[in-house]
Formats: sequence, C-alpha cells, structure tokens
Amino acid sequence: MERPTRIPVSSLEARSGGTITDASEMAIRKILTYPEKALRTRSKPVEAVDDEIRALIDDMAETMYAAPGVGLAANQVGVLKRVAVVDVTHPDGEPKLFAFVNPEIVGRDGEIEWEEGCLSFPGIHVDVLRSDRVRVRALGRDGRPFELEADDFLAIAIQHELDHLDGVTLADKVSFLKRKMILRELGKAREAS
Ligand code: ZN
Repeated sequence: MERPTRIPVSSLEARSGGTITDASEMAIRKILTYPEKALRTRSKPVEAVDDEIRALIDDMAETMYAAPGVGLAANQVGVLKRVAVVDVTHPDGEPKLFAFVNPEIVGRDGEIEWEEGCLSFPGIHVDVLRSDRVRVRALGRDGRPFELEADDFLAIAIQHELDHLDGVTLADKVSFLKRKMILRELGKAREAS
C-alpha cells in the first residue's frame, strides 16, 4: 500500500511477528503492476515458516521501505503465498514492522472511508470503505501464532494487504467505468516509463 499524505496515529495492542535481523542478505524485488495476473490470483497458504519464507519476508520489507510504501503482499512481487508486511510508521516514525503469514481477520467493527493508493497502481487513488477496527490472527516471522488488534490506518493497511492475498485489488473496489479509466492511466504510465 502507498503511503498517504496524512497518517493518523494508530493505537494497537500487539505482539510483533518478529524483526529483521540481517540486512546484508536482503534484496529488493520487482513490484508488479495491475493488471498482472499474479495480482488477480488467490494466494496459497504457507505450509511452514522456513528460511525461504523468512527471506521472502525480509525482501518484501526492504522492497516496501524502498518503494516507499506502508504495506506489501507477496503476490505483488510475484509469489503466490499468503504473506504480507505492513509498517504504517514509515518513513516518519520509529519503524514498527508487522509480518503476517497466513493472516485471517477474526473480528471487525465500525466503518471508515479512506482514499487508498497501492504500489501496484502507481498514481491511482481510490476511495474505499473498510472496517475501522480489525482483529487479525496470523503466524509471525518466527512461525509463532499471534493476534493483533488494529484500528484506523493500520487496520486499513492490513485489510488492503489481505485483499491482495485473495487476488482483490483497488480495481475491484470501483465501477466498471472507473476500472477502464484506471487501466488507461496505468497503460499511459507504462508507456511513459
Ligand atoms: Zn496494494
């Protein structure tokens, strides 16, 4: 997810899913843009949080920070596994990275509308209605289960990234006509680059 111009303070009761330990091993991966097929495909659950998954998480975090963005799902870098990273503090605050493996939303409450951007939709912004609070259950980078209660912008970013894992993008949140307009805009941007 793209960083908005205004970041509200998120309150959370959380246990982080682990931290990055070895920066020298990480690599920036290419972020796919819509309508690339991987972005429209449902990702498969991770069977074990092994070294390959940890390397994927670390690469995704580095890719997200470099973009710069506040969230990234594995299928955005072409890996169809249920892995996402989020850090809504970036780049102004103290880093607080969450890694989610096989995440599930187990509770939600309230409604909030937000103009969202996405690293796979450069230059595009779409108003999306989300839950204002979510409780998410996942495995962390250490393979251990954790639950996180999030609200406001953190809740929005989590819902945005979890949508990606189901092959759902900003293009699915708009009308047919707006989707055609988005495709045109992204095509123009690709030609220009
Ligand atoms: Zn996105």
